[in-house]
Amino acid sequence: MAMLRALPSVHQLLEEPEGAALTRANGRPLVRYAIQQVLDEERRSGSVSDGIARWARVSASVQALRLPRLRPVINATGVLLHTNLGRAPLAAAAADAAARIATRYSTLEFDPATGRRGRRHDLVADALRHLTGAEAAAVVNNCAAAVLLMLTALARGREVIVGRGELVEIGGGFRMPEIMRLSGARLVEVGTTNRTRLEDYAAAITPRTAAILKVHASNFQVVGFTESVDLKPLADLARARGGVLLLHDLGSGSLLDTAAYGLPAEPQLPDSLRDGADLVAASGDKLLGGPQAGLLLGRKSVVDRVMKHSLARALRVDKLTIAALATTLDLYLIQSIDALPVWAMIAASPESIARRATAWRSRLLEIGVEAELMASSSAVGGGSLPGERLPTTVLVLATRRGRASDLLKRLRDHEPPVIGRIEAERVLLDPRTVLPGEDDALLEAIARAMP
Ligand SMILES: *Cc1c(COP(=O)(O)O)cnc(C)c1O
Repeated sequence: MAMLRALPSVHQLLEEPEGAALTRANGRPLVRYAIQQVLDEERRSGSVSDGIARWARVSASVQALRLPRLRPVINATGVLLHTNLGRAPLAAAAADAAARIATRYSTLEFDPATGRRGRRHDLVADALRHLTGAEAAAVVNNCAAAVLLMLTALARGREVIVGRGELVEIGGGFRMPEIMRLSGARLVEVGTTNRTRLEDYAAAITPRTAAILKVHASNFQVVGFTESVDLKPLADLARARGGVLLLHDLGSGSLLDTAAYGLPAEPQLPDSLRDGADLVAASGDKLLGGPQAGLLLGRKSVVDRVMKHSLARALRVDKLTIAALATTLDLYLIQSIDALPVWAMIAASPESIARRATAWRSRLLEIGVEAELMASSSAVGGGSLPGERLPTTVLVLATRRGRASDLLKRLRDHEPPVIGRIEAERVLLDPRTVLPGEDDALLEAIARAMP
């Protein structure tokens, strides 16, 4: 208690000359926030500072608070779509489009030709229709929102049939049975974990059935004695039973053929529609390479029903998303695929990556830092192509002294933080996901982090 009484109040400190000087340069709310942080820390640790040490800490805290909270990092993990690191980096043109709209008024829900109100998702619907062959398209906050909305609007109070092998968890709390409960639709599970047949779906259809839901197994593989039913036979079944909809949670909806890039074929958005899905939900920031968004594509009557539901208003996207998404789609329309960072990273040849890793190694050697090169593999990640790897060459940092995890931490402590991975007690850095222009910062971080 004596110790706590020794702590000055926030108000007292603000009135001291140091507090007044900091306030003039940084504003009173920020300085109050910094002082509060420092006093809280003293209270927690039980060690009261003298005035000079305390003002040094407050000053450092003020500087830290003035840095942007959301900071860029260098992704050297080799995982292209890393959810914790913000998934797909936007194309420069898409980011510019968002920045141009951010500080201005815009045609978000206004048609200048008529002077009437427009609909925000119409700004991207035409491009989505052209690119996918869908009759109608709309956009909401993310794919999870798109799935929740379609189940709520189309199946609330009725039954939805899902194969047991597709009751997935995507991560971050997206579990299909829970989304289903939240929507008010009743989940009817059919088949088994490893095998589900068309007859299982057929036998489960009743007058209470609103839809069959097919969920893409986007982040795991089931191998061995397995069987699942493709969209096409499910579409025929749904149609034959009249009034049953076929919904598809596709997740990472690609507009390009991953097989053309030496990867296994990931389902593409147009395939899903061609195979007869009435409504497809997909993410904007996975293989599409755009901003976070949930695309809804399908039959016009179904899309209209979904977007008329009042939940659509709660899940709607912001103008920055619309601007970035519209420009991302334009890059597909003009076939400027190289401008999409995700696809440039997928397309990077093993030779070009090896050259880059070699150049890193030479530059490090020049300043006396030793590193090795090793053949390894990158992953697409983010719910795309589970288990599939892209061949790469990584830089291996040997830690003669200290542990690999300490080195990894020192790389993270750099500004910008460098995120790598550990394999067999060694730190690996994959050039594939290090964006053009980040090489110097990466090498500086390594030089400082190496003992
Ligand atoms: C990633 C994924 C989702 C969730 O998408 P978000 O855009 O992150 O909301 C849903 N379903 C599947 C199959 C996915 O792969």
